[in-house]
Amino acid sequence: MKTTPEITAELIHAIPKSDLHCHLDGSLRLSTLLDLARRDGIDLGAADEASLKALLRAGEPCDDLVHYLKAFDVTCRVLQTEAALDRAAFELAEDAAAENVRYLEVRYSPILHTREGLRLDQVVNAVLDGLKRAERLYDVRTGVIICGIRNIGPETSLRLAELAVAFKNRGVVGFDLAGAEENYPAKDHSEAFRLILNNNINCTIHAGEAYGPESIAQAIHYCGAHRIGHGTRLKENGDLLNYVNDHRIPLEVCVSSNVQTRSAESFERHPFKFYLDLGLRVTLNTDNRLITDTTVSKEYHLAATRYRLSVEELRWVVVNGFKSAFLPFRDKKLLLRRVNEDFDAALEGERQRQADSRRGAARAPARAPSPASPKSAVPADPLDPTPAA
Ligand SMILES: [Zn+2]
Repeated sequence: MKTTPEITAELIHAIPKSDLHCHLDGSLRLSTLLDLARRDGIDLGAADEASLKALLRAGEPCDDLVHYLKAFDVTCRVLQTEAALDRAAFELAEDAAAENVRYLEVRYSPILHTREGLRLDQVVNAVLDGLKRAERLYDVRTGVIICGIRNIGPETSLRLAELAVAFKNRGVVGFDLAGAEENYPAKDHSEAFRLILNNNINCTIHAGEAYGPESIAQAIHYCGAHRIGHGTRLKENGDLLNYVNDHRIPLEVCVSSNVQTRSAESFERHPFKFYLDLGLRVTLNTDNRLITDTTVSKEYHLAATRYRLSVEELRWVVVNGFKSAFLPFRDKKLLLRRVNEDFDAALEGERQRQADSRRGAARAPARAPSPASPKSAVPADPLDPTPAA
């Protein structure tokens, strides 16, 4: 029987992954943020990467979601030209592809990028151009989710929903509602969601992140959300939790971000493993690669170690991610088949690597003058064709 490898950083890097919840304006490279500011003569109040990281409080705990969102005022300042948007989108997909993310949904609110005169359609096209360029170069498929903002009026959400309709089947795969959750109920934006649903467009809503389960119920029952962004506080209502589970509504969990915004008190108190044990369709995502100072691999590694995932649980979370993609069914089926094959190949590669390193460890003492410790010897694997040391 083959041994099951340990879940290591190498294995997590090698397995195919998805990122369904990733904000463009929260996921720039620090170096790019500085470079774009320099090119456009924008004073960000920080001259190097270290001071800029400190200014953004990247990866640090915040008082709450509203506090966390302040960093976006800085990043959005440099994302006001087509060239900047194209570059940010391209680099995001490039960075994701470099860690074996095969499917990436990038979300942002085009209205935040019109301050210097860009039209909404120019904003969308610039981001799509950057993503398509990355798709041609790398093994990654991308889609765009357009976000309405809770704390910007419902009229704007309706305009953004119209934009999503115009770009349906042209790179835009869904619609979302982001921004400050408390005091800004999703049902105020129900007109936008009616338009989205009437046009058979997928939607996801940030809910249960900075407000209780009522917000999740509203997202599902008033706005027809097909997925829930975060859902950290779903655990507070068992009945709704079972509804979400029974209807296989995916949760876009972003563990590090949830701890930073105090949506979860701590990694230990985060409900990720509780949801996983109950069979909820949990997925792992970054939220913001820059502001949260994370990557998809970091999030998987964190979950695997903190919540002691087994390899089969790891596969389950990976598969959940691809199953929950806003993709046509046939495309999803083909992608999932490949993901499972590649997951098996990564597992086999890692099993070999671990076996080799154990054999190396066992051999090392023989080369040394001191006698080998019996504990360092590895039992021979009868299915392993490589001759034992
Ligand atoms: Zn988010």
